[in-house]
Amino acid sequence: MTESEGSPQARLYSHFSHIYVEKNLAGSKRAENIINKFPKANVIEINHYKDIFNRKNQSFSAQKASQSLILGEKHADLVYKGAPFCQDFGNSEFYYTSLVMGCVYDCEYCYLRGMYPGGNMVAFLNAEDFLDEVKKVSCGKKIFLCISYDTDLAAMESVFGFCALWHSFAEKNRNITIELRTKCAELGFLKKLRPLENYIIALTLSPEKNAVRYEKKVPSLEKRLEAGRMAAELGHPLRLSFDPMLKTDNFDETYKDFIQKCFSSLPANKIKDIGFGAFRISPSYLKAMRKNYPSSAIALYPYELQDGAYSYDKTERDYMTSKLMKYIEKYINNDKIYLWDT
Ligand code: SF4
Repeated sequence: MTESEGSPQARLYSHFSHIYVEKNLAGSKRAENIINKFPKANVIEINHYKDIFNRKNQSFSAQKASQSLILGEKHADLVYKGAPFCQDFGNSEFYYTSLVMGCVYDCEYCYLRGMYPGGNMVAFLNAEDFLDEVKKVSCGKKIFLCISYDTDLAAMESVFGFCALWHSFAEKNRNITIELRTKCAELGFLKKLRPLENYIIALTLSPEKNAVRYEKKVPSLEKRLEAGRMAAELGHPLRLSFDPMLKTDNFDETYKDFIQKCFSSLPANKIKDIGFGAFRISPSYLKAMRKNYPSSAIALYPYELQDGAYSYDKTERDYMTSKLMKYIEKYINNDKIYLWDT
């Protein structure tokens, strides 16, 4: 294997076995530009993205192992109110939107394993309709909008260019603060984007042993830290997300070393804020997750149901939270730390 065949970009461009494209999009410039990046994929025309994405009796795990990409359009429910399981970082007007559903990464704790009917990925090419809808929803008010919850948009930037599209939207709509959440280490595209106060890069980081065990296909902690350092040095507002916090053997030592490692790589004075919270999931997603991954240690853990979410029991959660808070406070002021809890 040559170095270029093994590069993250080359691996990405051979990632999809099939590309399904809605008939009305076939031949469009946006669809062609995407399809041309995947010379090995079989391209199949379809009527509607749901014909593939929402089929009954799909195997989520089998599809994740050999993922297909679906190119479609969406015309309803383009913007959602932020879910109670997600952090609003003190913003009362909190929304999210998903130009892409499904992820190239494969984290064992990912709620998508219980949320979607299958493991394929859909990209909506009528992106401008989403931007228009966000403008309508905001109606000139200040809003906080997360654009990369049900996917990792930055990991697909060389394919879709949606991060740059949202950046130019943020530049023209300063009342809308956009959060781009990612575990990607290929953040070179940020060099071409002017840092904006209302375009936040939220980098999700986990202790190395959790990353190796539970975050399949995700770049290493080391690489993510390098990417985070570059983003901060370029002047982009950098949010750190230690979410989900997972119960592990030697929790204290593991998380203490992890936080130390993060702040020996990242300039603490350039971190905008930090969010963290214990693993939590809705009952219906947990049920589907257990069905899709019957031997997953994360799915099978005996969580406690509290206020509509399954999570570790309160005593365990409080212990983990207080420890992590103590480690983070060594580096960052308390008013920049946001905790999710029930
Ligand atoms: S990176 Fe996020 S969206 Fe992607 S698999 Fe992991 S948890 Fe899920």
